[in-house]
Amino acid sequence: MSKTSEENAEILIVDDNPANLEVLSNLLDGFGFDVLIAQDGESAIAKAIYDPPDLILLDIMMPGIDGFETCQRLKKNLVTKDIPILFLTALSDTVNKVKGLSIGAVDYIAKPLQQEEVLARVRLHLKLRLMTKTLEQQNQILEQKVAERTAELTQAIDILQKTQNKLLRREAKLRYDAGHDTLTGLANRAAFLQKLEQVIQLQKRDRNYLYAVLFLDLDRFKVINDSFGHLVGDSLLILVGERLKTCVGEPDTVARFGGDEFVILLPDIKEVTAATSIADLIVVQLRRSFQLRNGYEVFIEVSIGIAFGNESYDRPEDLLRDADVAMYNAKNAGKGRYVVFDPAAQTSMLARLQLENELRRGIKRQEFCLYYQPIVSLVTGQVVGFEALVRWTHPERGLISPGLFIPVAEETGLINALGLWIFDEACRQLASWRSQFPKVPLILNVNLSAVQLKQGNLIEQIEKNPWGMDIFQGSLKLEITESCLLETNQDLLNKLQQLKALGMHLCIDDFGTGYSSLSRLHEFPIDTLKIDRSFVKRLDTSNGNAEIVRTIILLARNLEIDVVAEGIETIDQLNRLQFLGCELAQGYLFSRPVDGQLATRFLENPQLFQSQILGRIDQATAV
Ligand code: C2E
Ligand code: CA
Ligand code: CA
Repeated sequence: MSKTSEENAEILIVDDNPANLEVLSNLLDGFGFDVLIAQDGESAIAKAIYDPPDLILLDIMMPGIDGFETCQRLKKNLVTKDIPILFLTALSDTVNKVKGLSIGAVDYIAKPLQQEEVLARVRLHLKLRLMTKTLEQQNQILEQKVAERTAELTQAIDILQKTQNKLLRREAKLRYDAGHDTLTGLANRAAFLQKLEQVIQLQKRDRNYLYAVLFLDLDRFKVINDSFGHLVGDSLLILVGERLKTCVGEPDTVARFGGDEFVILLPDIKEVTAATSIADLIVVQLRRSFQLRNGYEVFIEVSIGIAFGNESYDRPEDLLRDADVAMYNAKNAGKGRYVVFDPAAQTSMLARLQLENELRRGIKRQEFCLYYQPIVSLVTGQVVGFEALVRWTHPERGLISPGLFIPVAEETGLINALGLWIFDEACRQLASWRSQFPKVPLILNVNLSAVQLKQGNLIEQIEKNPWGMDIFQGSLKLEITESCLLETNQDLLNKLQQLKALGMHLCIDDFGTGYSSLSRLHEFPIDTLKIDRSFVKRLDTSNGNAEIVRTIILLARNLEIDVVAEGIETIDQLNRLQFLGCELAQGYLFSRPVDGQLATRFLENPQLFQSQILGRIDQATAV
């Protein structure tokens, strides 16, 4: 066993001469070395392999294999190759010394042996051997450490690289998510606004640059979502997104804003039709059935609003707002179509919206009053009644004509509240006139809108009026427009009968404009026909209008219905109407609608007014 320190190092002495062996082993033993001996090369090799010594002293001249051969074999063996070998050789034998060194011996010791020399050389080589060994070991340790560190470093670099890749991927995903809709993978609102912003800037630099924003909303999507569930709804949205992409080109952006709202940006289009034909294509394409993943086949439609970019736009939101408005118009126009945003229509819509709000407020604050226009008899010249016409005394705009606000009130349903107020106010005025002029047989006409007529509890509301039902008896006439009677409707007929049963009279207003069939007039419980102003106006021109008016008057007479001509402005018109046999009239020629006070004065001085009217009639007759 080899030793690490020189003191009890193991030394193998190989010599065939027992005397030499003894001398050497005694010497070395005496100095504390562990001595092993061998008398020939073969056994020396066997011993060295079995228990490698720290140093070998090897005689050259031996029977069997000699020292050189033994040395060579030891040097070839992995176990023994590093053991320092010192030859024992005669002092003068230079040839052998050189040969020995050349085959791997480290030194030689001259014979006859000198104690000091043996010790000195043995110690020197043991020391060298030890140093070499230590060096080798340290080297090994170092190498191992380097290898370990290298492995650690490699691992660390590996981990770093993986982390970096992960971070890069995450960043890329974040960047992607920031600009995309997670469900459909289309651009999201943020990305769309950014693109639109760029396009707005391009348009600012080049006035001829044209672009369009399409705002899409799926019709009936909610129904599908509600009946099949959100997952199915989502899969439909994905398919819609895919189909939309097939309808547009490379520079275009399709985005989803959430829900079933999709938006498309068409930058740099050559002409308006480029956008409208894409909208057309989309309408057609989305009408094709969708195969959903639950196996259902569904059909949807899309409403599209288009806004074209121009220099008036500074912010993306404004374009989106206008495209959205157009989309709503498309929905209102019946869905499954596109509408191009029209700024003029928008302005009027806003004005209408404002009017609606003010109307609501006006009804609450009772900003309305009634004017009264006399209806006169062309036979006697007497005022036989009045038509009540509503006026709005707007706090800022003054008196507003009903032609402006009645249509809005009808569209919004506000006409029901307003109409009720009008009816009550008319009754109040009628009651007051009745008590003031008990002997005057007076009829007050009140206009009833078609919307009011369709309302379910109209009769109940009328019955509830604070002046009692007595007020209706023969003195209240409801004017309903001819268009109300266009379709025969049992409900309407019932209502008209009920109104009649309450003692009211009924008048068909604007007669002749609604194209109702004259032959069906008898189906309705009508007391009066009011010939529309447009016929009266065109009586001057000889285009057959006179014949129509004559026919109406004849028919009415046969059905025992009164006829009133309205809108008489000139003596000439009056003359022609008289000639046609018209007996009742209303128009600026006699009086404009006046407020309650002035109307009351007519009633106070009936003769004065009557003589004025008769004067006109005489004038007309004289023409
Ligand atoms: P309408 O029922 O046909 O009423 C007659 C309209 O013609 C009134 O306009 C009246 O001022 C006007 N008029 C009368 N004579 C002449 C004339 O000789 N020449 C011209 N150019 N016009 C004449 P107004 O008061 O502006 O009312 C317009 C329409 O508004 C009414 O047409 C009616 O449809 C509606 N309206 C007015 N008041 C009421 C109301 O209290 N309730 C309902 N539902 N509608 C009303
Ligand atoms: Ca009327
Ligand atoms: Ca009328």
